[in-house]
Amino acid sequence: MSKEQIRTVCTLDCPDACGLLVTVANGAVVRIKGDPEHPVTKGFTCSKIARYPGRVLASERRVVRPLLRQGERFVEISYDDAYAIIGERVREAVEEHGWETVFFYHGLGSTGASALYTHRFFNSLPAYTTFSGSICGAAGIAGQTADFGYRRSHHYQDCLNSDVIIFWGRNPAVTAVHLFEVARAARTRGARLITIDPVRTKTADNSDLWIRISPDGDRFLIAYLLKRILSAISEAGDISYTRVREGSRGFEEFARALKSLDEGYLLSQAGVVPEYADELSRIFASEARIGIWPGWGLQRHTHGGLVFRLLDALSFVTGNSGVEGGGVNHGFDEWRFFDVAFGGTKTRARTVPIGLLARDIPTLDPPVDVFFVAGANPVSQLPKGRLFGELMRQARLSVVVDGLMTETAARADIILPVSLMFETDDVVGSYGHNVVGRARRCVAPPEGVVTDTDVVNGVADALGISGFAMDREHVLRAVARTLGRDGDDLAMGRRQYVIVDEDPVAYRDGYATPDGLFHFAEIPRDAFEPRPGGTTLLSTHYEHDMHSLGLAERTRNLIVSSSTHRDSGATALVRSEGGTLSLPAELSDRVCEDAVVLYEGGEEGFSANDLIEPCVTDIGHGVPFYSTHVSVALDDI
Ligand code: SF4
Repeated sequence: MSKEQIRTVCTLDCPDACGLLVTVANGAVVRIKGDPEHPVTKGFTCSKIARYPGRVLASERRVVRPLLRQGERFVEISYDDAYAIIGERVREAVEEHGWETVFFYHGLGSTGASALYTHRFFNSLPAYTTFSGSICGAAGIAGQTADFGYRRSHHYQDCLNSDVIIFWGRNPAVTAVHLFEVARAARTRGARLITIDPVRTKTADNSDLWIRISPDGDRFLIAYLLKRILSAISEAGDISYTRVREGSRGFEEFARALKSLDEGYLLSQAGVVPEYADELSRIFASEARIGIWPGWGLQRHTHGGLVFRLLDALSFVTGNSGVEGGGVNHGFDEWRFFDVAFGGTKTRARTVPIGLLARDIPTLDPPVDVFFVAGANPVSQLPKGRLFGELMRQARLSVVVDGLMTETAARADIILPVSLMFETDDVVGSYGHNVVGRARRCVAPPEGVVTDTDVVNGVADALGISGFAMDREHVLRAVARTLGRDGDDLAMGRRQYVIVDEDPVAYRDGYATPDGLFHFAEIPRDAFEPRPGGTTLLSTHYEHDMHSLGLAERTRNLIVSSSTHRDSGATALVRSEGGTLSLPAELSDRVCEDAVVLYEGGEEGFSANDLIEPCVTDIGHGVPFYSTHVSVALDDI
């Protein structure tokens, strides 16, 4: 059996964007290893990538022919017939309602920058409807943009310059294994690792200190720390007080708003043991270089944007912003090194906040009568995603571009299958580091299956849009042209990696706000009102899963605190304002008393999103998934 080893990169939605060595035998991927030559991957990967060929490429859910709905089943058709039906029904809908009737939903099914071509297509239409914000980082991005002018992070490697590394609502031991590896190396050199989380995660297990916090208690703890620090430096007439005042805008009002808050109240709302809060307070008041690495969970609350603005303020006030080893390191735009202008802008698009789609699409005028979903699984991902699925079923036409029969694809009228990772070429950036890589076609896709670029060309042609079509090679060259000759070599496959010259330290040269100053948040009046009582539903990521695909053989259990419940193996009845689920209960000492965990994704009857009403964060149009409160009863049915 002849074997071939091919160097490529991972295109899964993960900040590490690993370099991979893929072994191919008889036209199939038989082994995947981390590339030792990739400067961040350094020869290792997460464990789930090894199972990708079996779980995805050879999945029973793989769609290998275009499918057309006939009643409750699908029949195979050709791409050309599918394009003809799409062209006809879109024309009818547009004639009746105008172009805003076309709704486009996209996701990061692949992080490859070739996806910009699909955006380019929709942005070239006279109008369309889409979402604003995102289900991931939108609130944090909006918060950091307001504070610093734009959002960026330190590179993973800068952890080595930190004295203290705080993983705040983040679990990189599972979700960013290379970041965690650098943090562990920093720890070996003497850095202290602290995890702040309502759940004792794998990262918490490997930290020097785990600080348990109530869900949505973060803003109270940060306000407590800021109060203590500001009070100490102002009373001491500290020089840093002058630095803070003169280097910022909005400081006086911000400090005044904090001053009116009671420290005991803040701590009780944070749900943090006072000695740990004081320990943190001492650390932030010291000379230590502190790198804060917040996770997505922090912004999945109604006040998610404010939480980031408070964290930024904490970092700025304590002199940890713009310096080695510091920062509030939320991430980067994964396509920042590419020509995002190639994808066009949404200026002609009507938008709806992503978390409100299931509720607000039916209210739109003109109505949405055509759905087009690419690289995403909104029926699984959105609050009340099943309602979104019902809207797809009621529309004149719903098209899903995907390689798998997801919950969303199952609601489509037409499914257009596409080649997946290891079956197609792409250029890939990272939202965690500065290495850009070349994804390669290692194996052929199922016979006849085309790329998403081909699908866009087919749809454009069916709609009579002339002069649009580009082939994949030209798309890759166009998006990578911002990298000059390196980009062209990458696009053409002559290079595997380009390490982009980017300062590993965010904002070292100053902020990009119009006045160059740090901007403190205006604190809304209701920001520090008591948290609602009861139990918070946390729908976190499952270690072995691939986000919305729900491919892992995994627990469908509701994980509840063993300190509040005793009977193992019981059934839990979970009720929220949005619905009721009956699930097997799993007792755990890892979850705090005022939270329960139900992993993200999952089929109907087991999905946390069935319990979550449409919702939106304070800024940025993120989704406050974790602001859902539930009652839980065991053995109650
Ligand atoms: S999922 Fe992340 S850690 Fe795993 S191989 Fe892909 S990029 Fe690397």
